[in-house]
Amino acid sequence: MKCEIRRHPVNVGVEPSELEVGQWKQSGKKRLHLISVPSCKAPEVAFTSSPINKTTVAMTDTEVEGSGRHRRGDVLAELTTGRDDVFDETYKEKDGPKPPMIVVWKNVVLMTFLHIGAVYGIFLVPSVHTLTLAWSVFCFLVSALGVTAGAHRLWSHRSYKASLPLRIFLATANSMAFQNDVFEWARDHRVHHKFSETDADPHNAVRGFFFAHIGWLLVRKHPDVIEKGKKLDLSDLKADKVIMFQRKYYKMSVLLMCFTVPMLVPWYVWGESLWLGYFVPGLLRYTLVLNATWLVNSAAHMWGNRPYDVNINPRENKFVTFSAIGEGFHNYHHTFPYDYATSEFGCKLNLTTCFIDFMCFLGLAKDCKRVSRDLVLARAQRTGDGSTRNRSG
Ligand SMILES: [Zn+2]
Ligand SMILES: [Zn+2]
Repeated sequence: MKCEIRRHPVNVGVEPSELEVGQWKQSGKKRLHLISVPSCKAPEVAFTSSPINKTTVAMTDTEVEGSGRHRRGDVLAELTTGRDDVFDETYKEKDGPKPPMIVVWKNVVLMTFLHIGAVYGIFLVPSVHTLTLAWSVFCFLVSALGVTAGAHRLWSHRSYKASLPLRIFLATANSMAFQNDVFEWARDHRVHHKFSETDADPHNAVRGFFFAHIGWLLVRKHPDVIEKGKKLDLSDLKADKVIMFQRKYYKMSVLLMCFTVPMLVPWYVWGESLWLGYFVPGLLRYTLVLNATWLVNSAAHMWGNRPYDVNINPRENKFVTFSAIGEGFHNYHHTFPYDYATSEFGCKLNLTTCFIDFMCFLGLAKDCKRVSRDLVLARAQRTGDGSTRNRSG
């Protein structure tokens, strides 16, 4: 089965050219209207002369072309379809002194020991069997996909649909990554998109590299993160039995997938020692996946160019793109969070997108949402930093 990539025929200042019958109507370019696409619930904006349905919200050309901290189209999208992964510019941080930071010492100790174990694992690498190294890379990729293709693009952003077997695989792979269960991960990630770079952002990069990278896991959450997280619509996650099952048996699944399986397979199949199996494909691989993911929150919110929206912090960062198997196109991703490829360039440097495309080819995924090239170019021209020739980061 071929993956259906739903291109939203949207342009800024130009008539839409690829209209989807029954969903888009073209008769002018003076006003902007929000249109929801029923088949995939992907909201988009387009220039039309009249509302298509009753929930349409109109904007003027001035608003569209305005500068400043905007994402007007995305905010409109949220208003009408309840997306909770787009920026909410109505949120204001509370005045007055910030609440005190409360260190969670248990997490500090665990993270310290984990990283010491990982460094020890690096020294063990020359001693392991070649097959153990290959197995470690395999485990890295599987657990990374559980985060990128699973918790992130599928469950946080609903940017494509996955069949039951694929969801079971992704939830299992996600337990191998041990980054909180998918429900919690997706909730925190939606809050991150909705309140980026504010007190309500769980890993607010304004608080510095260390906080955005790992520090946020070592202290109690800011009260606004908890408050806003509770208000999100998570009904889609609650309705997914795979997610609820993983949440119910999370500790057991982590014990099995993150530590036991990576250690036992090399021991059982090619006679690797349990010690090496525990420290290399186990602890070292786990720590590398953790840090690769955290780099998206830290480095990709600090260093790189901003070809799509210069008004937001997230950047295009090649190193993060490589380490987090395609998640470093972060300026693009925060500009168009519903795009399954998280990048203008599809599979290029984007193993996760390749994986989803392959799943579509196998008939295990479908309805991949994509932003049209015209819209991307128009947005880059309107709010980008001008680095259009280097949009790949
Ligand atoms: Zn995201
Ligand atoms: Zn981000």
